Amino acid sequence: MSRAAAPLAQVQGVDSDAKLAFVEFLLTSIDVQESSRRAVDWLVAHAPVTEAAVLVAEPLTSEMLLVAEHGVTSGAIMDFSLSREDSAHPLIQALHTPAPSFVDALPLHHRAPLESRSFHVIPLRAEAGEHAHGLLLVAGLAPALDAETLWLSRTLGKQVSRLMGRQLLAETRFGQERMLLYSIINAVTDPILLTDTEGKLIIANSHAEKLFAAPEEASEGWRRAAALNNMLFSAALSTSAVGMSEMSRRELLLVDPLEGSDLLFELLSSRAKDERQGTYVVSILRNVTDLARAKEEIEESYRTLRVAQAEVRDERHRLDLIIDSVADPILVTDQEGDIVLMNTPAERLFNAPGIDDEGTLRRVRANGANLTSFVSNVLTRSGEQRYRGEIQLGDPMTGRPLPVEAVAGTILSEQGELMWVVTILHDLTEAIEKARLYEQLKQASVELERKVQEATAELADQNELLRRQHIALEQASALKSQFLANMSHEFRTPLNAILGYTHMLLNNVTGPVSDPQRKSLTRIDSNSRHLLALINDILDITRIEAGRMPLNATSFGIGELFDEVQAELEPIIKRSNLALTTKMRAGVPTVRADRQKVKQIMLNLLSNALKFTPAGSVTMTASYDSKQKEIAIAVKDTGVGIPVEDQVKVFEDFRQLDSSPARGYGGTGLGLSICRRLAHILGGSIELESTAGKGSTFTLRLPAKARKR
Ligand code: ADP
Repeated sequence: MSRAAAPLAQVQGVDSDAKLAFVEFLLTSIDVQESSRRAVDWLVAHAPVTEAAVLVAEPLTSEMLLVAEHGVTSGAIMDFSLSREDSAHPLIQALHTPAPSFVDALPLHHRAPLESRSFHVIPLRAEAGEHAHGLLLVAGLAPALDAETLWLSRTLGKQVSRLMGRQLLAETRFGQERMLLYSIINAVTDPILLTDTEGKLIIANSHAEKLFAAPEEASEGWRRAAALNNMLFSAALSTSAVGMSEMSRRELLLVDPLEGSDLLFELLSSRAKDERQGTYVVSILRNVTDLARAKEEIEESYRTLRVAQAEVRDERHRLDLIIDSVADPILVTDQEGDIVLMNTPAERLFNAPGIDDEGTLRRVRANGANLTSFVSNVLTRSGEQRYRGEIQLGDPMTGRPLPVEAVAGTILSEQGELMWVVTILHDLTEAIEKARLYEQLKQASVELERKVQEATAELADQNELLRRQHIALEQASALKSQFLANMSHEFRTPLNAILGYTHMLLNNVTGPVSDPQRKSLTRIDSNSRHLLALINDILDITRIEAGRMPLNATSFGIGELFDEVQAELEPIIKRSNLALTTKMRAGVPTVRADRQKVKQIMLNLLSNALKFTPAGSVTMTASYDSKQKEIAIAVKDTGVGIPVEDQVKVFEDFRQLDSSPARGYGGTGLGLSICRRLAHILGGSIELESTAGKGSTFTLRLPAKARKR
């Protein structure tokens, strides 16, 4: 308090209480304006002053600021401004003078913050000779100054220079710091606000201003958006301020005043306490619109990823199912030739899971090595899409050799790099076995062909032999026939002579013969006749065989022929005591054929029927088959019949069924064979139907018209 001692001594005796009170006030005041106001008030109260003003030099600008006044109209104050650079101004000039000056009449072009044009100008400085920090203007008509005013000016001068010096220092440092702080908060891209607890704006950085303050030229929409943002912000602050002690954090949706779009912020606010200014709130808004969008996008892409992963898993599962369902081993190898995927059949060959038998494991390793060399071949020929080759593998369990055909395909990346080789193995054992069998079959077939050729050649030889034999036989047969014809002819002449002489003897031409002689002669006659018949038959056969039987075709009726045959066999028919009937079916035409030969056949068939029928009947029937144009003559008897097994034999030469010496029937055994030959040369046939013991039917079939031979 030593500094305060001096002024106290000086004020003694004047109005000590008032001065003391004033000085005490000044000591507690740290504000120039406050001090100046109190000084003016004091002057008005204790000195003959009605009009006064205090101007101080603004430390950061060149302005002189009016900080206190009395008795001045507000119009004069409003109009007033003064620069320290205005050196022509009486007030500025007075600022630099050591003593108070009196302005008698202020020129009209200069202005002063007083109504009166004449006034005292007292520079306010700490000590004489020091730089003045302000001016005290006191209106007055005379240049003399009263003591109270002078005292006050000195006291105020000290106070002003004290405060101004401190303020200047503080202002400069504070100003710099404030500028720095401003530039810092402006440099922050997040909006930062300093508000009171109600949300009233105190300081905002430029980003915050954009949201909360609309400039004068702003559009209506901008204004409204700013107002809305203020409202939202205040509401957020008031709700979050309830019970808030430290930092609070919450989301705040604002409107972009320029674009009208929604902006999502994270509001971080904290309270700050200042002793002078009370409690205020610092808020930082962090724009999380992009963050929220990015979060959404990340979540979306994460979902997509999960779906894709699930799809890949499904795909992989399907692929596994497919390749496992293939019976052939399938393997996928990477660029290094390492197996990355294989199906169950392949595992059996290249993995042998759960087996620790040394032999099996060795074979599995050998298989792997063979596969690797195949795949490395594929890799070196990467230009080709498909590669085919054979690999010798072994069955890991049995050691049986397992030749396989390997078909490999390459899978390339989008950049065309080889990624994987897919190899399918196909067991060749069966194919090789088939090929072996096929080879065997081919050889057997060649062998067979050779044998067939040999056999064919042999057959041809034998055919040739047979042909020659046939010719030889034919020649022999012709010779035989010729011989027989000659012989028969030679036999017939003497036989006819024998018959002639026997006939003469029996007719007593050479004298009467006794009965025993007659008996012998009769036997000679009958045997000779039998021999003649035999010779005639043989002659017929040989003629037919030699093709020397002439045919003489004429037209004739079958009925006449029946009559003629019956007439010729009359004695035998009578002797047989059999009923003989002839039947002509309707539509039997006349026949054109060799009449003599047809008659010969009929005679033979009828005499056989009479001969082999002890009792019963014989029927001759003629019928016509108009479709075949064929005439059928059937000779049916109720005689002994012919067993089935003998039915072919009866047509053979010299064949008689009862060949015993005791047989009851005569005959040569050539009749039926001649009949068949004759039927053939007539273009017809003879058929036999017979049942042993019941009877036989021989049927001659002839074409109605003789065919030319
Ligand atoms: P043969 O001159 O002996 O009669 P065939 O050639 O005419 O000679 O007959 C041969 C044999 O066929 C006869 O011996 C007889 O056994 C048998 N045969 C022929 N015709 C008849 C018939 N109608 N009934 C039974 N047997 C017959």
